[in-house]
Amino acid sequence: MANDNKLQDIIAHCKEYGFVFQSSEIYDGLQAVYDYGQNGAELKKNIKDYWWYSMTRLHDNIVGIDAAIFMHPTTWKASGHVDNFNDPMIDNKDSKKRYRVDHLIEAHADTLDEAEKKALIDKMEQLLGADDFAGLKTLIEELGIKCGVSGTANWTDIRQFNLMFGTQMGSVAGDADVVYLRPETAQGIFVNFLNVQKTGRMKIPFGIAQIGKAFRNEIVARGFIFRMREFEQMEMQYFIKPGTQMEWYEFWKETRMKWHKTLGIPQEQYNFHDHVKLAHYADAACDIEYNFPDWGFKEVEGVHSRTDFDLSRHQEFSKKKLTYFDTEENKHYVPYVIETSIGLDRTVMMVLSEAYTEEDLSTEDKKDSRVVMKFASHLAPIKLAVFPLTKKDGLPEVAQQLMDECRPHFKCFYEQKDAIGKRYRRQDAIGTPFCVTIDHQTLEDKTVTIRHRDSMEQERIPMDKVKELVLEKIRQF
Ligand code: ATP
Repeated sequence: MANDNKLQDIIAHCKEYGFVFQSSEIYDGLQAVYDYGQNGAELKKNIKDYWWYSMTRLHDNIVGIDAAIFMHPTTWKASGHVDNFNDPMIDNKDSKKRYRVDHLIEAHADTLDEAEKKALIDKMEQLLGADDFAGLKTLIEELGIKCGVSGTANWTDIRQFNLMFGTQMGSVAGDADVVYLRPETAQGIFVNFLNVQKTGRMKIPFGIAQIGKAFRNEIVARGFIFRMREFEQMEMQYFIKPGTQMEWYEFWKETRMKWHKTLGIPQEQYNFHDHVKLAHYADAACDIEYNFPDWGFKEVEGVHSRTDFDLSRHQEFSKKKLTYFDTEENKHYVPYVIETSIGLDRTVMMVLSEAYTEEDLSTEDKKDSRVVMKFASHLAPIKLAVFPLTKKDGLPEVAQQLMDECRPHFKCFYEQKDAIGKRYRRQDAIGTPFCVTIDHQTLEDKTVTIRHRDSMEQERIPMDKVKELVLEKIRQF
């Protein structure tokens, strides 16, 4: 089954099998906003829990918090988002369509051969790094880039566009203050740095982790759940002694890459991309990229050495001391920070992309195929499906006994309708790693058939061993 348009197939599959729906679909949807269905929500939660435990349980010196989405407006002045959280944009005068300059040039670069592509991306990054908007516009004109809608190259000048959503807080009209929906979760950690350090008696180095929603008014919102206007981030800020940042930066790059591989995704599907243009707060930064179908390598996570930028700025704007007393050094300092920042939705998309497999199962006599989601077992939305072979002879009752035994330990699914083969296929499509069939032999010797999703192999095991077997296979650590 040749497949040139795998992402489209994955997106269609996500909808058909209850992973991801367009938000407010009955009203024709809301652009770049998505809802997770019954299977997507389970998958997302499993990834989220896995990240949380990896951070807060496997590291004695990392604790988790849950800060509010709304923050004092000065937060965003201090963080630099009011002044710097901009993307250079260009409009096509004929279609009135607005583009992000880097996306426009990157899309053109994708049509070139590898060497030309690299040269162009390097040039673009250089111009972006120098904020040379005139140079970028000249580049777009020289390349003859046209608007996909109007087909013309009638461009405006390049301008900056702030990505934060603002809203009003306060009950009396006219009395309201503008507050922003947070564009990243990190600032909730920075402003709570001393609260956590003091109440938790944390000693440097230590980390604060958080999972939560973030909002960005992305102009070119495309690519399904890759780039959304409302999304979720999993961020960890690691507070360290100034001067040790390079060693911790390398440590977290490696630690995060190891974590990625435990999602059941092989190393060759990942890449590190070092930033040429550093954000205003960073002294080193890289992206962990995943090789998406059709697109190639794209960012999933950022690892950033943020210096003492954020804490120093909050200290300056709030006029409150945000220093740490280092008892070994016998001095006060503003800690440096290494940040790991991963998009939960992008991770879901990565896991979906890696899992989606079309298999041709045709034999000489019969054409056959299946779509199977080969999720790592610990991430699969449903771990075990239980099928009585028929609806009678007491088989459903025995199947329900197994459901009762397993249900408290992991997500199970019961079905008695249709032929077993059809039931297997439906579970393959949502990535259930194990299916158990209860048949007449079960009534005699208390054994069942367990079927493995990827190999499709079946084996006969005692029914009272099912729970242990599944628990063993879905164990994360
Ligand atoms: P990009 O260059 O793709 O816009 P970014 O460099 O601005 O991403 P960061 O600010 O470093 O992203 O955010 C950290 C992570 O949050 C990203 O690696 C990504 O996984 C996720 N993320 C950022 N923006 C979005 C979005 N609009 N939709 C979904 N996930 C996002």
